[in-house]
Amino acid sequence: MTEDGGSCKLEVKHGEIAFVWGCQFIFLMRLFLSLLFALLISAPAFAAKPNVLLIIADDLGYNDVGFQGCKEIPTPHLDKLAARSLRFTNGYVSHPFCSPTRAGTMTGRYQHRFGHENNPAWLPEDTIAGLPVTETTFPQLMKQAGYTTGAVGKWHLGAHPQFHPNRRGFDEYLGILGGGHQYFPGDKGGVEYTIPLNRNGKDEAQTKYLTEQFGDEASAFIGRHAGEQKPWMLYLAFNAPHTPLQAPQKWLDQFSQIPDKSRQIYAAMVASMDEAVGGVLAKLDETKQSENTLIFFVSDNGGPNLAAKSGSNFTDNAPLRGAKGMVYEGGMRVPFLVSWPAKIKPGIYEQPVIALDFLPTSLAAADEAGLTPKNLDGVNLLPFLSGENTSAPHDTLFWRTNGPGGNNAVRRGNWKLVRLGKAEPELYDLAADIGETKNLAAEKPEIVKELVGAIAEWEKGTIPPIFQSPKQGPKKKKK
Ligand code: CA
Repeated sequence: MTEDGGSCKLEVKHGEIAFVWGCQFIFLMRLFLSLLFALLISAPAFAAKPNVLLIIADDLGYNDVGFQGCKEIPTPHLDKLAARSLRFTNGYVSHPFCSPTRAGTMTGRYQHRFGHENNPAWLPEDTIAGLPVTETTFPQLMKQAGYTTGAVGKWHLGAHPQFHPNRRGFDEYLGILGGGHQYFPGDKGGVEYTIPLNRNGKDEAQTKYLTEQFGDEASAFIGRHAGEQKPWMLYLAFNAPHTPLQAPQKWLDQFSQIPDKSRQIYAAMVASMDEAVGGVLAKLDETKQSENTLIFFVSDNGGPNLAAKSGSNFTDNAPLRGAKGMVYEGGMRVPFLVSWPAKIKPGIYEQPVIALDFLPTSLAAADEAGLTPKNLDGVNLLPFLSGENTSAPHDTLFWRTNGPGGNNAVRRGNWKLVRLGKAEPELYDLAADIGETKNLAAEKPEIVKELVGAIAEWEKGTIPPIFQSPKQGPKKKKK
């Protein structure tokens, strides 16, 4: 046989036919393997399942990052992410405050369906105040889809050991288990805000400014799992820029021109978080994972208005009405990005979407849509984002605080109905009036009736809160 495999000497003697055919076979096999190899090395990296990175900011104002139009607080790293993302102009979370919105995101379901409508108190002996263990979680499903799962940062889904991230689907965890924390090591404060960091169930010392430490930990996770056969999912939940207002001097100096002291510190905290996100994006680049990582970025709720407490409203939700805790747009319409360079073209997406969609979208991106539970409220966004499906992902979206009879909001198309307790419902046309300034309820009674009916129907699938937020008193049910 010649070296090029292309010609075998054809000498048909007894027993040599098989030899000749063997040469042809080897030649064809070599050709096939060469072609296969060429195909494999030229195939785009996204033939593999994407990594999934969910980044959540805490209490970030709608207008407090560059890509949302903020000029006062430069956020070059988040802006870079936005430039390679779809930016959602009608992106929502499922609650206007911390823990319930996380419960929704971690399950893909309205948290009202399982009574998680309040913030759990820091009560490590309480088996009720937390994300019910009967709920299947986002990371549990990603593990079934073959992913390594990690969480870094604020948990706030229950203090009892049964609610620990490692028990709820995350292979690896470093963070704060409560609803917030002091930012500098050794600072004094309430118990929940001063407990040691927790790494996989064990105490770990806080070593630096918390936002920086969480960014470093996220980058370490990304580096550690780069090049493995298994894809990874990382939930990076900053507690920044949630209070307490504490920031490193270098960033405070950067914003010395801001006259309002609270706003200055808050701006420094946002900038520090932006820097941490920059470190994470750099690590993705360095490890050649940027192209095939599906990134979601949101705030867990709108910016708070703490004017009564701190003397200034240091967050900016413009042009939205209201703030954290409220069912006006400022409570739960948030900065919202989805990036997946391998598959999703950057741009603007205007149909309403909600963070409940992250779970089913991630499973579909992993080509494991079959694992999607049937009881989700979130939907797989991929066909909508690609333009394959031009209709709206959701017919109607719902919000509720304080249980049945509390504060409701519902959005259908551009109509938004707000009903605060027993008050008369308010109706707004968000297309014409994003700031919810003109109540059209009296002019459109038929739409009010329809949307009030939609709330009643939705509430049939919800239950009253199973635990109360700490401020509302210890009305805990005990097992
Ligand atoms: Ca929050």
